[in-house]
Amino acid sequence: MLKIGSHVSLKGDKMFLGSVEEALSYGASAFMVYTGAPQNTRRKALDTMRIDEAKTMWQAAGYAMEDIVVHAPYVMNLANPDPVKQQFAIDFLVNEIKRSEAMGAKEIVLHPGAHVKQGAEAGIERIVSGLNHVLEKTEGSSVNIALETMAGKGTEIGRSFEELRAIIDGVNDSRRLTVCFDTCHTHDAGYDVKEDFEGVMEEFDKVIGKSRIGVFHINDSKNVRGAMKDRHANLGVGEIGFDALNAIVHHPDFAQVPKILETPYVTEDDASTKRIYPPYKAEIAMLKARQFDASFIEDIRKQG
Ligand code: FE
Ligand code: FE
Ligand code: ZN
Repeated sequence: MLKIGSHVSLKGDKMFLGSVEEALSYGASAFMVYTGAPQNTRRKALDTMRIDEAKTMWQAAGYAMEDIVVHAPYVMNLANPDPVKQQFAIDFLVNEIKRSEAMGAKEIVLHPGAHVKQGAEAGIERIVSGLNHVLEKTEGSSVNIALETMAGKGTEIGRSFEELRAIIDGVNDSRRLTVCFDTCHTHDAGYDVKEDFEGVMEEFDKVIGKSRIGVFHINDSKNVRGAMKDRHANLGVGEIGFDALNAIVHHPDFAQVPKILETPYVTEDDASTKRIYPPYKAEIAMLKARQFDASFIEDIRKQG
């Protein structure tokens, strides 16, 4: 079975149960969720998240808990040169891993960090020391930390496979470190995922090892290869294109790996309204059919 879904939200009182409902409404067989707002670190108590009801609904639909992915908030930075802030990131990630485990997720996606002018090497060192603390404090957990491939904007670490390898090599015990391969980010970082995914994967395999891939983020990109911008586009309307992304989604080597869409919501052409629509149902349907529909964005707007 194709493991495909999108990021969904924790909405209102329904919390995690609402996430499952949203994913099922898109025809998804996997999904990703933030345990709260991605841009802050305020989190609700686990016992208010309606986890048991969510699990029951997801499994009754025939899907596996291990195809649910959590994403750590993107404001946390394990490479933070301020030791107080780095400690906060460590403690927060430990709690995120506990929440992820309670939710049944197998992977928590983490942006490795930003070196904020210390230089990549010093940043990697801090990430390694931070991860060592986190891995130790969560020893025995079933949750892997999936280091995301980054676009390389600002001082982001993780723009090259070598930087991720350095992190994996640096930690004391890398068994629970995996990789989240983001198609937009790797393209923006300069890898030719559009024309030569097989070549990119050969390189990935040499540097990191294909079996480390725990999650794919499937996004088109608004910018040309190597632009280091990180602006996601809807499938087939960006610089990567539908065919390349579709081939990745259906790649036989990664059938067991959940693929998650993080493409932008569709806005009205007419800027006078603020209405936005999720594209995921249509994008998932196109991937299942292996067929691009050039009018899908127009259709989403029409259906309102
Ligand atoms: Fe991310
Ligand atoms: Fe991503
Ligand atoms: Zn991104």
